[in-house]
Amino acid sequence: MKHELPYQSAAATDFAEVVIPLALPLNYTWAVPEHLKEAALVGCRVEVNLGKSKKYAGVIKRVHQTPPEFFEAKELVSVLDAAPVVFESQLQLWEWMARYYMCTEGEVMAAALPAHFKLSSETILVFNEEAGDDFTELDHEAFLVAEALLLRKELKLTEVQLILDSSHVYPVVNRLIQGKICYVWESLKDSYSPKKETYVLLHPDYDNEAALERLLNTDTKLQRAEKQLELLLGYLHFQKTEGSITKQALLKKTGASEAQLKGLADKGILMLEKRSVDRIRSLPKDIRINFELSAAQSAALENIRTVFKEKDVCLLHGVTSSGKTELYIHLIEEQIRQGRQVLYMLPEIALTSQTIRRLQRHFGGHIGVYHSRFSQNERVEIWNKVKDGSLKIVLGARSSLFLPFQDLGMIICDEEHDPSYKQMEPAPRYHARDAAIYFASLFKGCKVLLGSATPSFESYNNALTEKYGLVQLTERFGNIKLPEIELVDTRRYRTKEFADTIIFPPLAESIRSTLERNKQVILFQNRRGYTPYQRCNTCGWVPQCKYCDVSLNYHKVYNKLVCHYCGTNYPLMVTCPGCGGHDFIQKQFGTERVEEVLQELLPHAHIGRMDVDTVRGKHAHDQLIQTFEQQKLNILVGTQMVVKGLDFEHVELVGIVDADGILSFADFRVNERAFQLMEQVSGRAGRKHGVGKVMVQTTQPEHPVLLQVQRHNYRALFDDELPKREQFGYPPYTRLIRLTFKNKIKDVVKDAAALFASGLQDQYGRFVMGPSEPLINKVRNQYLMELLLKLPRNTRLITQCKQDILFKIAALHQEKRYKSVVVIPDVDML
Ligand code: ADP
Ligand code: ZN
Ligand code: ZN
Repeated sequence: MKHELPYQSAAATDFAEVVIPLALPLNYTWAVPEHLKEAALVGCRVEVNLGKSKKYAGVIKRVHQTPPEFFEAKELVSVLDAAPVVFESQLQLWEWMARYYMCTEGEVMAAALPAHFKLSSETILVFNEEAGDDFTELDHEAFLVAEALLLRKELKLTEVQLILDSSHVYPVVNRLIQGKICYVWESLKDSYSPKKETYVLLHPDYDNEAALERLLNTDTKLQRAEKQLELLLGYLHFQKTEGSITKQALLKKTGASEAQLKGLADKGILMLEKRSVDRIRSLPKDIRINFELSAAQSAALENIRTVFKEKDVCLLHGVTSSGKTELYIHLIEEQIRQGRQVLYMLPEIALTSQTIRRLQRHFGGHIGVYHSRFSQNERVEIWNKVKDGSLKIVLGARSSLFLPFQDLGMIICDEEHDPSYKQMEPAPRYHARDAAIYFASLFKGCKVLLGSATPSFESYNNALTEKYGLVQLTERFGNIKLPEIELVDTRRYRTKEFADTIIFPPLAESIRSTLERNKQVILFQNRRGYTPYQRCNTCGWVPQCKYCDVSLNYHKVYNKLVCHYCGTNYPLMVTCPGCGGHDFIQKQFGTERVEEVLQELLPHAHIGRMDVDTVRGKHAHDQLIQTFEQQKLNILVGTQMVVKGLDFEHVELVGIVDADGILSFADFRVNERAFQLMEQVSGRAGRKHGVGKVMVQTTQPEHPVLLQVQRHNYRALFDDELPKREQFGYPPYTRLIRLTFKNKIKDVVKDAAALFASGLQDQYGRFVMGPSEPLINKVRNQYLMELLLKLPRNTRLITQCKQDILFKIAALHQEKRYKSVVVIPDVDML
């Protein structure tokens, strides 16, 4: 029914639907006052009042002429941006993400925008000590606030409001932030400043052929300083081939001295500048790919192009070290030639300077790096360059998907199987790979390339069912063989003598001989997410859950075995069903213990350890990688961190210390994950010289996953596992939605979950599992309960179910007893 508007006049009022960074179920609407009509564009930030005293900076999503039905719209206070900060496609992504992942657009917006763009009454402004104290350039209002900041160092936005006593506080604050007088304080994030190095640049005066020629041939000061001339020529050579060069590298490569370099700097010919490794602005003159693809790579490239003629998504399944990265470089280059932008996504931890440098070698300043740990200024800088189209390539972790791309031609999602693409906490709990596929669909002809040596079963299944194209690279680059996998059966060492052994003789021996040949070793021990388990010491049997087909974990506090999946408890095993034995062990050991044991074994070896405990510092991770790369370490012991996309030349041996631990994850994905992990770790061995070897210590050498790892046979593993997924109703056959209930009172949360479950069961009976108490059932004084939905892959049904869930959450909150129960949906949980 069409709404008759009693007060609609000839000059219709404009209304703006605004997204504000809060978990509101709907966007609210404000009236656009006459004087802001021209400025209030979709995508611009506006200052709005909410309730009596709260202020927010929101983003206009839509401008229209329909007044809100149930209340009278208040007016927008001000418009903060001269031009939109986001495009229509970002707003569409936010909307899609909120709907698909069952959160609010405000929550997505909060995740998407750099802190500088987010202002609210609670925002705290921090004085930038580098700003100095001369504010004479500022206008009167900005001046007042700057003075107050200088004095107090920090101001809440509510305080700024008092100082200015005006209705347009945010524009003033906005000017101060843009002028770098202050920044927005962000709690929880440790501000990360990227590593700085001194770069050598040619002074812009000589940045053209003619001037350079004059300088080299006729400048008398330079002619007399022969060594300096030599250094300059060296510099020009490297600049041409590398794009940019650090002071350290230049001096090393040319053999010149600091003084000679200083001489050139004093003459104003070269300039020295401290820059972060990730932000190099000098562009190489033209992009030139200086390597040739192998026959296999060329064929794969051709196949990818063919796939993209028909499909928007292609899975590149290429074994480790097959040269996938070089293929990406080619594809990126094609996009750049057409003037389009490319997003290259990687898991956060794989964004090491090793990867960054490799891409910078080809793309120089065309490439920008975006990660959630960068400083706000840097994030805003990249944001703006992406928006105006001057930055063509972004290398980033999952949050780079939110950048305001103007004209995206391709998204590459490397290591697409990596679980860290899924955001766990807080909302939006999105999967960046899946969101990327949606996002790409908003740009004309934009393609998505997923790459992995061990694809997720979801993606591989999509490829086999021809939803995606599939291209394979089955050989390593340079005809290097995949490493040979040797299983070390540790059951042979069940005597007293080896009771505390972690590194058994065959592995110890191999490590020793590898070091003797001056080669390097990586030892993998998966400690995170590694929970103790009970195991038969005679035959290696690990008890399984009778409902879930996963290994049970030993829980010390309760002295029980627990299925992490469905929550079922079991008494400890007394008699082994495999062999009738009674000798059980409960094992747990981490990287630190491995390091100790190694050091005792090899007192002269240089050992490094890489896990969350050792790489806390800002650059620790990169530094450790570089030290290892430079062969200052013989052995690197680490968790998953050593797995991600690293390319070391001299690693010959990889040891997997405890495969049983990996194979006993309590999760239906255990076999998929175990294969991925072991295949990826193995992939670090023998990448350049083709003599890689992997030793796997296990009590279950006949385990089907190990047999497939040994054959590097991903496909066989997939074919083995898929029927089980179907039988037990897991992805890729179903879609999972997990609901977590939280409350301070245990009975309340239990009853709420039970009530909710029975409500859902009416409609979705056989798809509802639980409620059950998660193993960690109390977090920050809140008790937890979980409910799992395994929905068939029927889009209509899933969409309906999501709506029903949201409706039921609202209904639950209507009841007094359950008002404070928090319900968190996690769609496609991992
Ligand atoms: P993946 O990403 O598949 O693990 P990489 O792209 O890291 O493999 O390639 C493995 C190694 O082979 C790297 O050191 C890379 O520089 C080298 N490489 C790959 N393709 C080429 C090529 N066409 N020319 C020269 N070197 C190559
Ligand atoms: Zn047994
Ligand atoms: Zn179970």
